[in-house]
Amino acid sequence: MERQFTKEIESLRLGDGEVFHGEGILAVTKALLQSGVSYVGGYQGAPVSHLLDVMVQARDYLDQLGVHVEACTSEASAAAMLGASINYPARGAVTWKSIVGTNVAADALSYLASAGVMGGTLIVLGEDYGEGGVVAQERSHAFAMKSLMWLLDPRPNLTTIVSMVERGFELSEASNTPVMMELRIRACHLRGNFRTKQNLSPAVSTRQKLDGPPREFIYDRLAHPPAIFRQEKLKSDVRLPAARRFVAEKRLNEVFPGAENVGLIVQGGLYNGLMRALRTLGLADNFGGCRIPILCLNVVYPLVPEEIIDFSKEKKSILILEEGQPEFIEQEIATLLRRADVATKLHGKDCLLMAGEYNTEVTVRGLSRFLAEHAPHLDTSAGARWLDSIKNTREKATALLGAMPQRPPTFCVGCPERPVFSAMKLVAQDIGRPHVSMDVGCHAFASFEPFSQGNTLLGYGMSLASAAGVGPMSARRPVAIMGDGGFWHNGLLSGVASNLLNRSDGVLVIMKNGYASATGTQELISSPPEEARMVAVGQSAVDADRTIEDTLSGLGVKWLRTVNNYDVGAMMKTYKEAMTTSHKGLKVIVAEGECQLERQRRLRPVVSKQLSEGKRTVRVKYGVDEDTCTGDHSCIRLSGCPTLTVKDNPDPLRTDPVATVIDGCVGCGLCGENAHAAVLCPSFYRAEVIQNANLWDKFVHGMRSLFV
Ligand code: SF4
Ligand code: SF4
Repeated sequence: MERQFTKEIESLRLGDGEVFHGEGILAVTKALLQSGVSYVGGYQGAPVSHLLDVMVQARDYLDQLGVHVEACTSEASAAAMLGASINYPARGAVTWKSIVGTNVAADALSYLASAGVMGGTLIVLGEDYGEGGVVAQERSHAFAMKSLMWLLDPRPNLTTIVSMVERGFELSEASNTPVMMELRIRACHLRGNFRTKQNLSPAVSTRQKLDGPPREFIYDRLAHPPAIFRQEKLKSDVRLPAARRFVAEKRLNEVFPGAENVGLIVQGGLYNGLMRALRTLGLADNFGGCRIPILCLNVVYPLVPEEIIDFSKEKKSILILEEGQPEFIEQEIATLLRRADVATKLHGKDCLLMAGEYNTEVTVRGLSRFLAEHAPHLDTSAGARWLDSIKNTREKATALLGAMPQRPPTFCVGCPERPVFSAMKLVAQDIGRPHVSMDVGCHAFASFEPFSQGNTLLGYGMSLASAAGVGPMSARRPVAIMGDGGFWHNGLLSGVASNLLNRSDGVLVIMKNGYASATGTQELISSPPEEARMVAVGQSAVDADRTIEDTLSGLGVKWLRTVNNYDVGAMMKTYKEAMTTSHKGLKVIVAEGECQLERQRRLRPVVSKQLSEGKRTVRVKYGVDEDTCTGDHSCIRLSGCPTLTVKDNPDPLRTDPVATVIDGCVGCGLCGENAHAAVLCPSFYRAEVIQNANLWDKFVHGMRSLFV
């Protein structure tokens, strides 16, 4: 796994009145234990991966408490796990990245929301929205509204986040409804502290087991006709009013008073950004004091009508800060005010952006527009000066630098997936470019230069399924790329089984790198066993496992090849065969090569131990002979490795920069393979850097030096 959480696991043990220091998402982990959670599950994904990673690593401690932890194979499995709280007074929490994870979990969530829960359930959503987001930009709010589940959006500080976790469980139990809590990237990685409480051993747990199912069979807890019709009525007639009562009584939303008669209503998660913008405008101090009253919605769904009306009715106008589209909260508030005949002027998306993150600049502009109309007496010139300074800096940067070349994200240095795309690019020069359906994971980087492969991206594990419509209409076989993470998440059933059922054609390339790499190298069912990871420095650990190949064979895949990624020649040959063979049906290439990031993490301590013990170590490094390099950069167009770059040509008579390999090269071998497979210029050389050289090494070096 990407990180060891030894220190954080210690923080989970803190008792009454101690102080927890750390990240927002780890504070949630502690808050779950303080709330007496019985079981935790989820599927990794930024920005909430650490929640599950810590829980998995803390299994020994959680066993002592009786808390069950499960690293689920998808968000759907995690959501279904919450079914334990339908019939039993057991609190459960799951986590995943939203919106994508919520989409995957949607089926189970609908059933869960319909049946309702007895034990509190909390779904911690990594709201991957805005700058830094890596998924389709949509909001989880829509899911909360359509299923009538409640949505918390806590003000980003650790005390509030922890309190909302604890209240979230109570809210869930008070209204028999699952509760979701959205945490944006900045809230998850925000650092701070809070005063801890003793962890609670759950009443129902792996140590306090249930006798069996409920004594009386409760048909009404099954989301099935005719119970579903009653459940639908319960949602609006009983659960919603109960939730509103709880939110109002426990004052989950916060009012920050101010002297002005205009007001701001903000999603809790945006509160810190709003305060920064107000301070930039000269209307707030560094400690949260502000001239303008603010209603901070730590619960964004459901809204409590009385709270909205009380806050708005005496004010001349209010501005709603709601990030993303459509403007659900604004529309609901407009309806509430209209029904209550409150004439306060309402603004929101007309002053701010409909789409995109509300960063400080966007918020300052929106507030300036609103205040210029409704509070012109306020001096906001500091904000105007700040906006001017940003504009000037941008203009100066453009004048000095011109149009900056784009720097697309790319694979890690030495990544095993890079050679596969090099091979595909070389074969395409021969047989033409096929339609490539890409999948979620590191391989999506091949959509960018220099590979530019990947015509569609339809979700995790969906690449083969998304080629199903293209195949029959294409003269050339479509190619689907999938990681081993995507294969186990959804690809096996949605892609492979569907392809086999329909006797379809097509090529599937599975990147068997051993882990769910893009999310932090979490383990998969096909991850190399622990012993295999202790292989010698030069070997890959993943070829010890055949689970993927065995599964495919068992399912009926007849054309199946496993190829070492770094052997570009073999990969080209196999890929070309898959694209041109007369064999009808699915052709699967398992491209085998361990995630370089994980490999380096594994090997670094081994190598440094060898060095400290004075043992001989050999590191391979590639280089370019600058006298031979023609400067046409074909090698760079085939590789895109960040350590294969350019430098000024040392020959004063030649102006083209020459290729060069800089220090970060991990000696993966792709440079040599590409030069050979594509018959490039002979400028690449392979060097062995020997540390703690032995007598023979010294003798050989002496002889070589003599001859040179
Ligand atoms: S994390 Fe692993 S698989 Fe992903 S780009 Fe880096 S080396 Fe490649
Ligand atoms: S051998 Fe080439 S592709 Fe591999 S890490 Fe070194 S520079 Fe990058």
